[in-house]
Amino acid sequence: MVLADRLAEVLNTIAATAKRAGRADGSVTLVAVSKTFDADTIRLAIAAGQRVFGENRVQEAQAKWPDLKQETDDIELHLIGPLQSNKAADAVALFDVIETVDREKIARALASEIERQGRTLRLYVQVNTGLEPQKAGIAPDDAVAFVDFCRNELKLTIEGLMCIPPAGENPGPHFALLQKLAAEAGLAKLSMGMSGDYQTAVEFGATSVRVGSAIFGER
Ligand SMILES: *Cc1c(COP(=O)(O)O)cnc(C)c1O
Repeated sequence: MVLADRLAEVLNTIAATAKRAGRADGSVTLVAVSKTFDADTIRLAIAAGQRVFGENRVQEAQAKWPDLKQETDDIELHLIGPLQSNKAADAVALFDVIETVDREKIARALASEIERQGRTLRLYVQVNTGLEPQKAGIAPDDAVAFVDFCRNELKLTIEGLMCIPPAGENPGPHFALLQKLAAEAGLAKLSMGMSGDYQTAVEFGATSVRVGSAIFGER
């Protein structure tokens, strides 16, 4: 299958799963994760109509996306990987959505860069639902207070929560936890689900899924 066919298949699967789950048409956004793939491969997805993309490294994205964004004006680029505060200025300049806000230091760095650059960014708080020591994300118990802090103290636009369940575990309980925390925090958006589990995520209320290899191929 060529890329456009794999993209169409993922979009069809999302639509069918959402429909079966009784969810409205268009209630799930596909974030096509293009990390490690070059600009010409990404152009195939853009030519096929895809507009929302995810990258996990600021530097890699800087090498590909300024040109791609120039070529197509309605691209929406998401940062889905960990962010260091010394990269906050670059991230704010390039990305439209940052999904990995997970600590006070990075939230403060983003707030000051957003103000300095006069940009409007939508942000997600990443939650470490599996409490994995090596994984980014705020602990579930601290998530609601952190969202409140970002909104009230820093005046950031927190749109939703994001999680990456532990590899090899049933993702359902993690998606359910993220949904519960978002409801408690008064957030409507849930970024969850990857190539291996995006159908489950849609069943658990994902409003966006981050799918890479099912579209672009193995990395
Ligand atoms: C790479 C990545 C994805 C996509 O993973 P696939 O299994 O290729 O779909 C999704 N989310 C994050 C945070 C990633 O780093």
